[in-house]
This record gives sequence, C-alpha cells and structure tokens, in this order.
Amino acid sequence: MRDLNEILSQSSNSENQCFVRVALPIRHMDLLDYRCESHESAGVGCRVVVPFGRGTRLGIIVEQQHESNIASEKIKPIISVIETEPVVGEDLLRTLQWTSQYYHQSLGEVLWAALPNAVRTGRSLQPNVELGYCLSEIGRDFDIGNLSRARVQKAIVEILQTATQPVGQALLSNTGKSWRSAIRQLISKKLVEAQPLKSPEYSGHAELIQNLTDAQVVAVEKIVNTLDIYRCFLVHGVTGSGKTEVYLHVIDKILQSGGQALLLVPEIGLTPQLEQRVNRALGITVSCFHSGMTDIQRHKTWWGARTGAAKVVIGTRSAVFLPFKKLAIIVIDEEHDTSFKQHERVRYHARSVAIHRAATLKVPLVFGTATPSIETIFAAQMGRLEKIDLPERATKIRMPSMKLIDLNRSLLRDGVAIQILTEIEKRLHRREQSLIFINRRGFAPVIICRDCKWIANCVNCDAKLIYHISDQRLHCHHCFARFEMPSQCPDCMSDRVVRLGEGTQRIEQLLRSEILGARVMRIDRDSTQSHAEFERKIQQIQNREVDILIGTQMLSKGHDFPNVTLVCVLNVDAGFYSMDFRATEHMIQQVLQVAGRAGRFEKPGNVYIQTMFPDHEVFSSLLTHDYLRFARRELDQRKLARQPPYSHYALLRANSPQAGKEFDFLNQAHASATSILRRQSCSDIRLFDIVQSPIQKLSNRYRAQLLVSSENPRTLRHFLGIWTPLMEKIPQRGKLRWSLDIDPIDFM
Ligand code: ADP
Ligand code: ZN
Ligand code: ZN
Repeated sequence: MRDLNEILSQSSNSENQCFVRVALPIRHMDLLDYRCESHESAGVGCRVVVPFGRGTRLGIIVEQQHESNIASEKIKPIISVIETEPVVGEDLLRTLQWTSQYYHQSLGEVLWAALPNAVRTGRSLQPNVELGYCLSEIGRDFDIGNLSRARVQKAIVEILQTATQPVGQALLSNTGKSWRSAIRQLISKKLVEAQPLKSPEYSGHAELIQNLTDAQVVAVEKIVNTLDIYRCFLVHGVTGSGKTEVYLHVIDKILQSGGQALLLVPEIGLTPQLEQRVNRALGITVSCFHSGMTDIQRHKTWWGARTGAAKVVIGTRSAVFLPFKKLAIIVIDEEHDTSFKQHERVRYHARSVAIHRAATLKVPLVFGTATPSIETIFAAQMGRLEKIDLPERATKIRMPSMKLIDLNRSLLRDGVAIQILTEIEKRLHRREQSLIFINRRGFAPVIICRDCKWIANCVNCDAKLIYHISDQRLHCHHCFARFEMPSQCPDCMSDRVVRLGEGTQRIEQLLRSEILGARVMRIDRDSTQSHAEFERKIQQIQNREVDILIGTQMLSKGHDFPNVTLVCVLNVDAGFYSMDFRATEHMIQQVLQVAGRAGRFEKPGNVYIQTMFPDHEVFSSLLTHDYLRFARRELDQRKLARQPPYSHYALLRANSPQAGKEFDFLNQAHASATSILRRQSCSDIRLFDIVQSPIQKLSNRYRAQLLVSSENPRTLRHFLGIWTPLMEKIPQRGKLRWSLDIDPIDFM
C-alpha cells in the first residue's frame, strides 16, 4: 500500500512535470528515465545534463511520456537542458533507432557516432561560422588612392569593390600574409564590415557533359522519374562507363528542385579529384566529411547539412548520419567496398543504414559500381532494387586486355616475373606509366630460420612479423609493436635466418635496381600517412613526374591515371587461401578495380596477373571482364553452403587477456542460446561451434567467436532480441570484452 502522502505528492507534481527517456553513450545501456519540469520544455532530440552514478552525464532525450513505469520518487530530475532546439530531427532519430535495434547497440552509442565531437561534448551546435567581408557605406565612397601605402588593404578593398556578396577567407587570403590584420584595420577605419557568408542559390550546372550515351540517358531518366519516392537502383557499369556522370546529372536535377544530395564514397576513394570534378560540373563548392578532416571541419559540414547550406556532401560511411535539412538522394559509389562497414564501436554497414534512411525520407538511393557485391546482385534478382546497366565505356576506349602469368612456369626475380619487368621497361621507353599492385606492406612477410624452420612471430599477437627496410626492424601489422631483426635464430642459433616473400618495399627496391632511370613511387600506409601527402602524390602521378607506381589498395580506388597503360597484379593468390567465404569476391573486385586504372584515356591498357593457379575458374570471368558470370557461380555456391546472402549471420566475438576466459564467456552464451532455442523451437536458427578467431591472440588478448545464422532475417532478429539481454547479464571476469557483429564482413 502506498501511503497517502506519496499519492498526494505525486498528483500535485504531475501537472507540471513529465518524464523523459534519455540515451547516454554507454555500451549495453538502456534508455534511462528522468523527470523534467514542464517549464524546461525540452523535447525529443534535445541535449540534457543528467545525474548518473555519482556524477553527471550529457544525454539526449529520445522519448517523452506523461507517466513512467518506475515509481516517481525514484526518478531523478534532469539537471539542465542545454538547448531547446533538437540536436537530431525526427527522421534521423528514426534511422538511428533502427540502427541501434538492428545492430544491437545502445541508442546512445549510435547517437554519439552520428554527432560531431563538439556537439558530443556539450559545446555549441553551431560551429564558428566563417565571416565574409564587404564595404561599408563609407567604404563604397572611399578613394582607394588613400591606401596606396598599405598594399594589402588596398588589394582587399579592390576585391570588395567588385563583389556583389560578402567575400570569404579563400579569396582574401590571396592578398597577402597580413590579410587578417589588414581587415582589422579596415574595420576599425569603418571602411569594411563583417557579415555571415551566404550560401549562394544553385544557379544551374556549369559544365555537365551534354551528349550522354543512350545508356546514360536511360539511367538518368529512370532515377529522376522517382525523385519523391523511395526506390533503390544499382548502376552497374565498368570503370569508365560514365557512372559518375550519371550521378552528376541526377544531382543537378535535385539541386534545381532545392534538395540536397549525399554522395558516399569508400575510405580512400575520397579524393580531391572527385571533389573538384563535382565542383566544376555543378558550379558549386561541395562539402566533405571524412576522417582526414579536423573536428572543426567536420562540424562545419554537419552544420551545413543541417541548415541546408551544404547542398552536396561527399563523405565516407559516417556521413550517412548527417542531419540533412532536405536530403533528396543518396548515392553510394563503389557500393561493394568493405570500408562502408564499420568494425569498431557501432558496427553498422552504411549501405544498410542508407537503405533505411532513404526509405524513411522517401528518396531514391543509387548504388554504383563495376563490381557489385554479391548481396546487391542478389537483391537485384529478388526485385528489391532495379539494375541499370552501362555496358560500355563512355569514351569508347577499349577495356584493358587481361593476361595471366603462370608462376609455375615463369622466371622470377624477387617474386616478379621477368616478363613483367620487360613490359615495364617498354612502358618506360614509351614514356607511359606502370602500376604495380601488391596488397602487402613492408619488405618481407616471413622471417624464417632455414635450419629449424623457426618463424618470427609477434610476442603480443598470433601473427607473423613483417620486415621493414625503412628501420630494418620487424613490425607487427596488428599491434604495431617493433622488434630487432635477429642475426641468429633464437631456437637453434643458426645464422641462416632469411627474409622470405615480398611486400611493397622489396618490389620498390627491385624496380629501382632493375629498371634503371625510372622514377619509382611507392604508395602504402607507411610511405603515405596523411591525406595531404596522398593528394600530393596523386598529383605528381598526374603530372607524370613518376614512371612506376607501386601500391596497395590505396591506389586501386577511384582515381584516373590517364597515362598508366600497364597494371601488374602480384599477389592475388592470397584470396584462394583465405578462410573468409568472401575472399574470392574481394579478390576479383580488387583486380577489376585496379585494372580499371589502366588506359582510361587515349591509350589502351594491359593488365598482367601473376598466379600459381591459372586454371582457377575465377580467372575465366576475370579475363573476359564478365563479372556477372562470376557472380552467378558465386551465388550458386553460397546457396549450397547456406552462406550470405542466402542466410544471415551474427558473429559473437569475445576476447580476454587471460586465456580461456573468452571461451568461458562464449560457453555461457552458447548455453543460453541453446536454452532459448529449446524453449522457442526456432528450428531455423543455426548455432555454430565456438572457435578460436583466425588471429587467436591480438595485442595480448585471446580471442574466440561464435557464429549464429538463419535463413530468415526476422527469425534471427527475434532470437538476438532475446539472446543479447542474457549475454549482458553474464558476469564478466578477467577484463573480458565481447561484441556482437551483425552481417559481419570480416571474420578475423
Ligand atoms: P565511371 O564513374 O563509371 O568510372 P566516369 O563518369 O568517371 O565513369 O566517366 C569516365 C570518363 O568518361 C570521364 O572522363 C568522363 O568525363 C567521360 N565521360 C562520361 N560520360 C561521357 C559521355 N557521355 N561522353 C563523353 N565522355 C564521357
Ligand atoms: Zn633455427
Ligand atoms: Zn602484434
């Protein structure tokens, strides 16, 4: 029985208070209930400070209710409302809620992943906006002859005299290093005023190609005809078939009708090239969003999306969460690329989130690629998306010819066929460029004792060490530890310890010594760490300051290298040994991508692929550029093996610094799964055995995993909905960590 006082105190409060559910960025955390005085008028989407534990936390209101299931006196009041303006709008919140539910991550974590750092940490929603400058009334009548002794001030006034709108930093900074102090002096002389920069209205395209091919015209029409409804398209066309041109024409229509466009690109594919191309074609300045930018720059794009000032955003996966004011289309270029999946914290796939986002907003979604993911091909077969083909190169330039080099019958030098070296030399004489693709960093991937077969492994990881020539040490590519190169075998004291195999550095050394006079450039994560450096190198390649490029996948995506006429792919075979069922798919995608870099303009290209398995069936599709034939075979195999897209996976991973604890956890999780399955008789859930992860130890943590699958995604979701709360209750000892990965892409 509740006592009378309690009931009275509740009813007297109930008029001027409501309850809110608040999301906090904490793993496995449900929404928390707080009380809110009505005069605080904080609605859904607002940031609030709430008591939590012994301290306070920043949270976001995600629900408002007039009553709560919890006894009112147990509910603490919120401490303060940061602003009454919602940080996330209703449509975005719905997508974030879906993301949270689908990926079994707390809504708070998902929300935080969607916010710029400044907003997450409680600072102002609006970034410091850049000011523009214009002449004051006095300034307009001013005789600039009076400024002849102040060169920079004079130059600034001259620019402002011809401007019809406030002028920003980009233009003014050209007047000289001291432009800021010159501006300050002009302002103090009351000649110049500062004003917020206006984002110009879209004035129509500047430089779109007018003579689209028939296939391009059809593609543009199909997409443009569905602008107000959700519809998903796959634009499938070889590299150079004019997909980007199609996006540009569609985006042009979107901008004309006042909408915003989002163009998602893979991690590395984001290049100044694409940005410049869009700017030029549409006559606007696009906004970017990627990890190479500063927090402040990203915050500005976030704000621009929100206010509508950013009309076109080009971004990597997390841009799918930008709070657009009027988003009218999402384009995902290179949709097959695995970098659209995030592997840490919130493990979402931007492609899946984009589908939800576009469907909520009722706008079209366009996937574009030369090599669609098997999942996307399947979706097209099932009629969930419409496939539009661009069967030929827009410029009528032939596709590069593909040739295999059988490693079993070739003379090699440091792993490179002599034939390839000869071809590179020919290109050098013709002043054309060659691209050597090898997806392995470092100099040599195996350090082995010839006598006892000891292999250098990382002490922290279950992984081989890679020799790097730059510091002549052994590097672990997993935990980044470095070790001395042993002069003797630590096991048998033999001094026959050798460096086997090749990485980018050994190939660089080989080509420098074999191809005399060639200018060689290596592009991998060791040689090219910053975004700016990457851009500089790409520019050098374009300026033909380089003859031979050696690179990892950093080079394979999205760039045009018009003068590259030879592409050599060195180590495709790794794809055949992998335990990952998608390895062949990724291999053929990568080879076709990198092949697409060759001979994109006047000059036809040649591609050479080295392999030990020239008879492998995947090559018959590769050599004829027949990706769909590969896809059909792959779909057949996956159907037989009951693999995605014919079934849906969820991977439970656990790791612990104490060997065995990861298995303890997974055993308990397995037991609770078994008991759910027994009770619920979910016969179409497959619970696999617990296994060690392919990299069993990583950074001194022992790792294991448990796979669950179902042919029916709803059954799987239902099951996970019961299972995950049970896992959260398993007592965790020994600094155990676990995570659930829905639709996992990598199984390492
Ligand atoms: P993709 O995105 O499929 O790789 P792009 O749109 O980049 O293809 O087009 C490849 C090249 O062909 C670009 O240089 C582009 O300017 C040119 N191009 C595209 N469409 C046409 C067209 N209709 N006529 C002439 N050139 C075109
Ligand atoms: Zn030895
Ligand atoms: Zn390591």
